[in-house]
Amino acid sequence: MKYLNKTKDILLELIYPNRCIVCNEVIEFMTDRRLCPECKDKVKPITGRVCDICGVPIISNNICSDCRGAKLYFKKVYPAYEYKDEIRKIVHNIKFHDHPQYIKYFADILCGYAKSRGFENADTVTYVPMHPKKQKIRGYNQGEILAKEIAKRGMGEFKQLLEKVIDTKNQHDISKEERRKNLKGAFKAINTEYIVGKKILLVDDIYTTGTTVNECAKTLIKAGAESVEIICIAIVNKRD
Ligand SMILES: [Zn+2]
Ligand SMILES: [Zn+2]
Repeated sequence: MKYLNKTKDILLELIYPNRCIVCNEVIEFMTDRRLCPECKDKVKPITGRVCDICGVPIISNNICSDCRGAKLYFKKVYPAYEYKDEIRKIVHNIKFHDHPQYIKYFADILCGYAKSRGFENADTVTYVPMHPKKQKIRGYNQGEILAKEIAKRGMGEFKQLLEKVIDTKNQHDISKEERRKNLKGAFKAINTEYIVGKKILLVDDIYTTGTTVNECAKTLIKAGAESVEIICIAIVNKRD
């Protein structure tokens, strides 16, 4: 059976060779790499000093200017990358095209990164839900697929804990304050008996202003969760 599967993989790869997630170049035969060597050099996880809360790279202090004084319901964020250049293209590809193999690739990296920054396993791994109307149009929620892959890597049990009950308008090009108002009451906790006392890991793709994950964390904490931590692919770095 194993042999047959391997043969199938080889045949599939002959027909559909692996391509680099960023530049679409064909990648060397039968490797599980998802990036060509050139792009791999440009896509590097965050190293060095980061904000104790949101994980953005910082030069001085322990907490960045965005997190300082903010009312945050989550404990900590683990973004593996800064949202720029190649990572921007990759996240766009994952978001708008169904690329399960890329999600697996990033699940490995995100778990390794979070652990290297001191993350210890959660009870439950969950995700930021889309409004059913939007999910129907796209056909899938990349955050949900990523959360399932992260759960599979031993980070906690996968479970949906939130529902999006308001079909909010697009968050782009609006201020942080408007984002907050826009999202107020947009999420509802489900499986509420289960949530009580749980250490939750919330998975998202991009941390922009943190408004979305903070609203989700608020909903989970109010439902009785013990703590909420966040794993995301990348963080937008606009801090001073
Ligand atoms: Zn490439
Ligand atoms: Zn911060």
